[in-house]
Amino acid sequence: MNWTVQNSDVSNVYIAPTFHCINRCLNCPLSNHSDSTSIERVVDRLTYFVSKMKLEPQKIPIEISGGEPFLWSDIDHLIQNILQMGFRPITFATTSQTMTSSTVERLQTIFKMASASPVFFVTLYSHHSQVHNGIAMRPNSWQSRIRGIRLLLERGFNVHLKFLLMRPTVEGLLDSVEFVHSEFGCPGVSVGFYGVDYSGRALSYMDTIGIKYTDALPKVEQAIDRCESYGLPVSINTIPLCLVDPFYWKYLAAQEITDGNTLLITPTGVDFLSQFDSVIHTDACASCVVQNTCPRMWNSYAQVFGTSEISAIKA
Ligand code: SF4
Repeated sequence: MNWTVQNSDVSNVYIAPTFHCINRCLNCPLSNHSDSTSIERVVDRLTYFVSKMKLEPQKIPIEISGGEPFLWSDIDHLIQNILQMGFRPITFATTSQTMTSSTVERLQTIFKMASASPVFFVTLYSHHSQVHNGIAMRPNSWQSRIRGIRLLLERGFNVHLKFLLMRPTVEGLLDSVEFVHSEFGCPGVSVGFYGVDYSGRALSYMDTIGIKYTDALPKVEQAIDRCESYGLPVSINTIPLCLVDPFYWKYLAAQEITDGNTLLITPTGVDFLSQFDSVIHTDACASCVVQNTCPRMWNSYAQVFGTSEISAIKA
């Protein structure tokens, strides 16, 4: 654990109160884990770091993730504590599959009282249910996820749909955008295209899911154009900038270019994680003018496909 991190180095907080989930997604590093922590422990740790490191919660984004955070029985209690401490903005990484009308109604009340608007990040592998369920490794994952997304939108919450660039998902990206537009419309919905960290069991399935950035990006650019035509907010995430047509750089997600460390609270402990621990600098990056703002390349991607696609951007 890096206890030498200073308050000014902490750029965001990430809490995974439970590793438990109902899916077994191929690329999830936690799919064989189900540990949970206690509400007392999470709140103690947060309080300690806020006072010890003099964090200013109102300037620090906080993400509540998992596993599936809404399977954790104390999630309401945690949200109320976080709101009271003042952390903003608040995002959730959720499957949305466990959402019920009463859960969403409760969340609406909690956030309304605090005048806060969270964003729910939901990975939708594809508009195609069989493709999605095959990657999530759970029958009906797609169906219950779509229902959960609808419930959140109906209560006025913002939902960010994550599309990961895998071989079976990239081919249908345009259809996925069409699906999002026709199924959910635009208010409250945004879309992001993400390079994949091939973690969990993903490396065993590379013949099926692996795809090079250079093969995927033409489809991503078409999908961005289609989002634009519908007025659907869109971003690109965790893709090396030198592979993206400069016209599309304006879609780079803002969080991709935040320096600093993540304060990580999970069932297995507390740690400080550098934002770039899982992504690499290639030799070419050393002479690149955007090396400090580029999301760079997942280490796991480089292990499989190498770094030959990368070339430095010169002034
Ligand atoms: S050379 Fe490296 S830093 Fe520059 S755009 Fe490519 S991946 Fe990013």
